Amino acid sequence: ELGESDIETLIESFTECAVLAQSAGYDGVEIMGSEGYLINQFIVKKTNRRLDDWGNSLEGRIRLPVAIVNKIRAAVGPSFIIIFRLSMLDLVKNGSTWEEIVTLATAIETAGATIINTGIGWHEARIPTIASIVPQAAFTWATARLKKAVAVPLITSNRINSPEIAEKVLVRGDADMVSMARPLLADGAFVKKAAENRADEINTCIACNQACLDHIFELKIASCLVNPRACHETELTLFPSTVPKKLAIVGAGPAGLACAVTAAKRGHDVTLFEQSDRIGGQFNLAIQIPAKSEYRETLRYFQKQVELCDVSLKLNRAPTVEELIAQAFDTVVLATGVIPRKADIPGVDHTMVSTYLDVLEGRKKVGQRVAIIGAGGIGFDVADYLTHPEKSAQGDLDAYLDTWGIDRHGRQPGALKEAGLQIKPADRQVYLLQRSETRVGDGLGKTTGWILRLILTRRGVQMIAGATYRRIDDNGLHVRVKDENRLLAVDNVVICAGQESMRALYEPLKQHKAAVFMIGGAERASELDAKRAIDEGVRLAAEL
Ligand code: NAP
Ligand code: SF4
Repeated sequence: ELGESDIETLIESFTECAVLAQSAGYDGVEIMGSEGYLINQFIVKKTNRRLDDWGNSLEGRIRLPVAIVNKIRAAVGPSFIIIFRLSMLDLVKNGSTWEEIVTLATAIETAGATIINTGIGWHEARIPTIASIVPQAAFTWATARLKKAVAVPLITSNRINSPEIAEKVLVRGDADMVSMARPLLADGAFVKKAAENRADEINTCIACNQACLDHIFELKIASCLVNPRACHETELTLFPSTVPKKLAIVGAGPAGLACAVTAAKRGHDVTLFEQSDRIGGQFNLAIQIPAKSEYRETLRYFQKQVELCDVSLKLNRAPTVEELIAQAFDTVVLATGVIPRKADIPGVDHTMVSTYLDVLEGRKKVGQRVAIIGAGGIGFDVADYLTHPEKSAQGDLDAYLDTWGIDRHGRQPGALKEAGLQIKPADRQVYLLQRSETRVGDGLGKTTGWILRLILTRRGVQMIAGATYRRIDDNGLHVRVKDENRLLAVDNVVICAGQESMRALYEPLKQHKAAVFMIGGAERASELDAKRAIDEGVRLAAEL
């Protein structure tokens, strides 16, 4: 509904921004013509219903972006960099066709853009484009296709999170450059480490969105789950310790690992005890979930840091209070984590009942009909694990494109296949239950929860809110929902009812030592996730 003079003002404003950037010493600007923002809304039929010269035809719809680039180029001279982010795949109905995208890219090149950057998917798209379920470098084929049509250098993006993947994309010739955002939150030294052949030291972005995008949509400062110092560098500072201490950290889950390597980097002498035969704690469970297999990169990072920082790692060791006292540690940090909560339901000891640990660690096979008690993050993960199609490997690009109905041949507007999503009902019947009346899955991450809810709904998982658990017996799980008694005739019941803290060492240690701290699940089991655990580990280590 913008009038002619409003549009002229808009173009002036874009130009003024670029001129200001230039006079402030910047080398260039990027114009956001993608992701469904204003310029993109002018470009596509879906949103541009104008009948004047700023709509009506393709020429009219692309008039605004072309005018902006033209005007900026005229104002900033020939060598200032103008990057135009162009939506390669809108992934919404009535989005651009491939021919329209090529016409626009050619016009943007002619108008004077230095570089075109690839944008994938509007925020409104109901297709995941950056979450961990998306294979690495899943969209570089679209950039490669545009390379055949224009001469201007192209940047490709989305789920390029390691130097190896970036290198592959460039060697293949899919693009001239890659862009990254989240990987640089996860590790500010990404580029330096890559250049120095130290890629194995990079703290990799695991595409969880939990501390970056989720924070932004909750109007909080962005950060990073694996690197809580991101965007908090001036407040969460790490200086060499003036009084190096002998530290014992008990538990090598995310909290203990983060605390151990951060404290060791500050100069403390750190011994890290872990009762199992590997580091990682609850993160080892996440790795079992197909869409989270890349979380193993975080453990690779910590393993490497443990070695580099000379943390003395003692696996298969659960120290007693006496041992900790005998070794004269100055400070003991308990990062002993959690154990699954045992739900208080008659029949909970029936052989058909197991914990999520039994299932995810492969100790217990479940049948074709399963009820999951508890619909938090872990209940959802278990439902995903139990209904995941066996043949669909995580990271398989063709399977991902087919599943989400993405047209890679450029025949359909918005690159959406007419057939739509291809998520099939699972062979296994799964019920996902909670006692609260709220919508099941309400507590999941803002920018990823919808993906999991959508997938599980399409796989036929029945989500039941407001359940009262009456009993478990040979016939299955007896529940009461909305004043009606129901029998869920299942073969197995999996308890995902949250956790309780493991903190048995705390009180006895406290009696002997002044400096005993608890972090992560040991400190508080409720609302525990890896974000909080790592954050607490780093923050404590910064203060020790
Ligand atoms: P959770 O999120 O606290 O969920 C526990 C579930 O169990 C809730 O649905 C709760 O719902 C139910 N529950 C609680 N007490 C119960 C009881 N006594 N009897 C029966 N049901 C009970 O815990 P979680 O699923 O174990 O997850 C642990 C942490 O890991 C969470 O903070 C979670 O955010 C995090 N995590 C995150 C992700 C992720 O993708 N971001 C994935 C996995 C785990 P009702 O009380 O309504 O029954
Ligand atoms: Fe990547 Fe998760 Fe960190 Fe965001 S919070 S930058 S997605 S690891």
